[in-house]
Amino acid sequence: SILIEDVSKRFGSFQAVDSVNLHIHSGKLVALLGPSGSGKSTLLRLIAGLETPDTGRIRISGKDMTYENVQSRGIGFVFQHYALFKHMTVRENVAFGLQIRKASRFYVRERVEELLDLVQLRGLGDRYPSQLSGGQRQRVALARTLAVNPQVLLLDEPFGALDAKVRKELRASLRHLHEKVNVTTVFVTHDQEEAMELADEIAVFNKGQVEQVGTPEDIYDHPATPFVMSFFGPVN
Ligand code: ATP
Ligand code: MG
Repeated sequence: SILIEDVSKRFGSFQAVDSVNLHIHSGKLVALLGPSGSGKSTLLRLIAGLETPDTGRIRISGKDMTYENVQSRGIGFVFQHYALFKHMTVRENVAFGLQIRKASRFYVRERVEELLDLVQLRGLGDRYPSQLSGGQRQRVALARTLAVNPQVLLLDEPFGALDAKVRKELRASLRHLHEKVNVTTVFVTHDQEEAMELADEIAVFNKGQVEQVGTPEDIYDHPATPFVMSFFGPVN
């Protein structure tokens, strides 16, 4: 689980994250949904340890991680533009994190094939990133991140740069993958359809604050504020 308690972060005089409380239960997929500049990425970076909050606490699996470094948090991160190693094949990219942790060759081989299966890239292991589509690259990025069994998976608009059709395919893949792996996942998006389709729970962000948290059905049927209502589609 991830417990965010009264977390705030400002940049200069700008309050990017404003007293956020959020409880993300173990094994769930939670979407942070909100317009550009509402503080979604900043909150994700705070969870990852890439930023330090001005106030508040962040607990991961019960442990206070507020001031712990990135490495000790057991987190996997996938960004919109994920840098794969260009000079390595898909298989080598996925194996990298295992190799630097000194996993045995046998384990690495088995694990890499398992992961390629999981992200539906079986058969593409010998290709280089330049020989893959954008969607395939993001699948490799996911496999590489999951290889080391993170406690928490953080995804910042991972499909943002892709066209609508590929986004839909990857959504389905991520759901499938999440059912199998069941890692606690926080998914940032400004696409309400994506959030509705993927998430167990949605946290709607507005100006650094969480306006509402609930299941997609809850939020759609009972928007708590005019902002949430407006965000869930045109009423006309
Ligand atoms: P988007 O959907 O566009 O990615 P977001 O909800 O992820 O938006 P953030 O990236 O969290 O928004 O940014 C929130 C606000 O904080 C923005 O106004 C941004 O300009 C500001 N901000 C973020 N990081 C920094 C920084 N390192 N220095 C100064 N301002 C920052
Ligand atoms: Mg962002």
